Amino acid sequence: MRNKQIILVLLVSALVSGNSFGASYKKGTYIGSAGGYKSKIKVEVAVSNDKIEDIKVVEFNDTPVLTDLAKKRIPEDIVKYQTLAIDSVAGATSSSRGVLSAVTNALKSAGADVSELRKNKVEIKHFEELKPSYSSEVIIIGGGGAGLAAAVSAHESGSKVIVIDKMPQLGGNTLISGAAFNAVNPDKQKPQNIEDSADLFFKHTYEGGDKEGNSDLVKILTHNASSTIQWLEGHGVEFQEKIVTALGALHPRTHKPIKPVGTGYIEAFKTYLDKNGVDIFTETEALELIEKDGRVIGVKVQREGVNSTFMASKGVILATGGFAGNVEVRQQYNKNLTEDIPTTNHPKATGDGIKLAEKVEANFIGMEHIQLLPIGDPFSGSLSGNVERQIDNTIFVNKEGKRFVAEDERRDVMTNALFQQTDSTMWLVVDRNSYENENQQNFFNESIAELVAKGRAFKGETIEELAAKINVDPSVLKNTIAEYNEGIEKGQDKFGRKKYGSKIDKAPFYAGARVPTVHHTMGGVQINSKTQVIDKNGKVIPGLYAAGEVTGGIHGTNRLGGNALTDINVFGRLAGQEVSKEK
Ligand code: FAD
Repeated sequence: MRNKQIILVLLVSALVSGNSFGASYKKGTYIGSAGGYKSKIKVEVAVSNDKIEDIKVVEFNDTPVLTDLAKKRIPEDIVKYQTLAIDSVAGATSSSRGVLSAVTNALKSAGADVSELRKNKVEIKHFEELKPSYSSEVIIIGGGGAGLAAAVSAHESGSKVIVIDKMPQLGGNTLISGAAFNAVNPDKQKPQNIEDSADLFFKHTYEGGDKEGNSDLVKILTHNASSTIQWLEGHGVEFQEKIVTALGALHPRTHKPIKPVGTGYIEAFKTYLDKNGVDIFTETEALELIEKDGRVIGVKVQREGVNSTFMASKGVILATGGFAGNVEVRQQYNKNLTEDIPTTNHPKATGDGIKLAEKVEANFIGMEHIQLLPIGDPFSGSLSGNVERQIDNTIFVNKEGKRFVAEDERRDVMTNALFQQTDSTMWLVVDRNSYENENQQNFFNESIAELVAKGRAFKGETIEELAAKINVDPSVLKNTIAEYNEGIEKGQDKFGRKKYGSKIDKAPFYAGARVPTVHHTMGGVQINSKTQVIDKNGKVIPGLYAAGEVTGGIHGTNRLGGNALTDINVFGRLAGQEVSKEK
């Protein structure tokens, strides 16, 4: 008993003084490096004889915004708690591990016993304890694209807003997305000779989902996309001039932000919210909606083991995203989506909103419509490493080197066709027409040179050389590409493809392997055209709004590529406006 007391006193005094008791170092400053997600991470670690005094990250090239917290928090925690038993920042695992390994390597040079430091488990807190309750006019659950668009617009509409998110950093799937946004935009489409209209966009979206979407909601999406682009630009989101066709978009109306992945949107929203003093609670998980007399009036939450309630006088907006990352839930609706099929989603895309809404008797629509993409990374299922920059300049070939589907088809058609190929695996083949130079990047902030260096893509100066590298018969691949190029000349493709950029004829040629991956959940809570959640009896649930992938009934059976970013921004913005009208 007495020994235990002594250990406790030592532990407490070690923590108070910031010392890891027993640790010893050769005083000085040491450099350590390790691999991050994209490239090398280098740190400078200053130690005294018994303490880690300071850590500076001096080289770090992982994607900004996405990895900012890992870069900041890991060194801070190591210094504050004098331990290497530090968890990765969820959503930035590779960068977190990179920083931790770089510090570990520096400490090894300083003579530290790193295995002891790794055993030094301490309770790490990042926040002040939550108060028992908070109140606001609007509470937004989920700080991804839909939630943050809602937060900005509710604030613009005069509401007092609080945002909560269970992750350490804002952004959800929106942050890691390809960020492709469909909208009619004559200013950019006309110079590229692209004919378009909001009605055509409606037709593509509605028919592309087999007319199972709610036509009123589809109209809102398609007819408000352009003004939402302008709203986003007003908040500092910059889009590239060139309009492309995202995979499965069916028409060239896809806008790509200038900043990598979804960082442009999230950074712009966060800048507005910070500037206007909107409270954001990260690592704060919504557990249950609070109801009174049939109205949703708040939400029970938990942060770092402490419970609290967040009360909303106007309403709660559910913006918790989809459930493609939750094998158990997705299998409830589609038994075929077994664990061995990977997902593009971040691991915490678990569909919590479905559970929260179920308890207040919300109605669900189209839960069985779960989208797979044919372009997942063979190891992780993620979309990173994808060599396709625009479908117009890309072909798919199977392991035998033959095309098997029109590459501008619907996503479900392409994925089903891929499942029929050997090992459900294909090669995406592109050429110089996709990558003007080796430094040009894909949609995921990775240059083609980087992908080739990492063995995630292969390069050949000739088609034969490329074929040999990907283990495909060179004469077959040569024929496949010749036939495809001929089809472009004749305007008649073997598989009925209609959208072409240029021929595949400019060296170097590149190929990357891809497999089916679970991507998007079209189903979710039913909403009306004011984003109010509808219950099982077809009535509005007062005080409860929803936007983004948590909702159902917009995309029908099949979401067009580039339409989710439109959805979350259009409906997130609308939800913020509508909730603000409540008294
Ligand atoms: P999210 O952005 O996922 O945000 C939901 C937030 O809710 C998360 O931050 C989460 O932590 C939080 N949350 C969940 N549960 C709780 C809880 N209990 N308590 C508190 N917070 C909670 N679509 C396109 O249109 N174009 C693209 O280019 C594109 N590329 C994609 C690439 C990838 C890799 C992925 C995964 C998706 C892509 N999509 C794309 C789809 C699109 O990104 C998503 O549909 C969209 O971002 C969903 O936005 P959201 O705001 O509804 O959800």
